[in-house]
Amino acid sequence: MADFKTHISGSTIVGAAYGYWGTFHQGMSVESGLLAAGLCSVAGMLPDLDSDSGVPLRETSMFASAVVPMLMINRFRDLDLSPEAMALAAMLIYIAIRFFVVEVFRRYTVHRGMWHSIPAAASVGILAYLVMPSPAESARVYKSAAVALGFMVHLILDEIWSIDYRRGRFRLKKSFGTALKFWGNDLSGNVSVYAKLFLFAYLAWGDQAIIERLRERDRWQQPDDWQRPYVAEQREAPPPWQQWFPGRR
Ligand SMILES: [Zn+2]
Repeated sequence: MADFKTHISGSTIVGAAYGYWGTFHQGMSVESGLLAAGLCSVAGMLPDLDSDSGVPLRETSMFASAVVPMLMINRFRDLDLSPEAMALAAMLIYIAIRFFVVEVFRRYTVHRGMWHSIPAAASVGILAYLVMPSPAESARVYKSAAVALGFMVHLILDEIWSIDYRRGRFRLKKSFGTALKFWGNDLSGNVSVYAKLFLFAYLAWGDQAIIERLRERDRWQQPDDWQRPYVAEQREAPPPWQQWFPGRR
């Protein structure tokens, strides 16, 4: 298998190209392009979360727990959270990733199991789509595709590294075909990975409608221009409970 450094270099190069392509050919903003490049680069570490050997698991989980809450800011905003609630949510996400998600990977995945697979790459892309809503749908798809792309680069590198070239002859290592795959040998693993894929796809499908409804509600709650003076008046009036405490203001 390709080592950590190879993976990171591979996904970083592809990420840089993807960022360039998005910014200069697809009309994405420079920030979106840079972010997509970074996401692609980091996503190149994700598949080896199943390897249980320190570095990828530790590095990726630390990075993810710091960055995921930041990426979710638009999501928090849609939910109408106050800044304090956002900080709290960020803390909970940090704890969830650092302790819960890492533990799940340590216990329930085997190296080169179904986490190294094409449906897993698709799931991760859709999950990224769910995590970072953005006002423009095209930017949202572009950034989440960067994550899936980085993941795929890792799988492709794993396959390339399983071809052994020695003394002018190609030989396939035993690991050949265990990264870029749609199905594994373990039935429960297959069922689990496809169940998650369909669940995420279903959620992403419904997500647009939910966000639309939240924004619609927001629009209704904003007073129209002609209402503004009345609304301001209402806000200045003392809250009703003050009649019970005449001395306090
Ligand atoms: Zn790998």
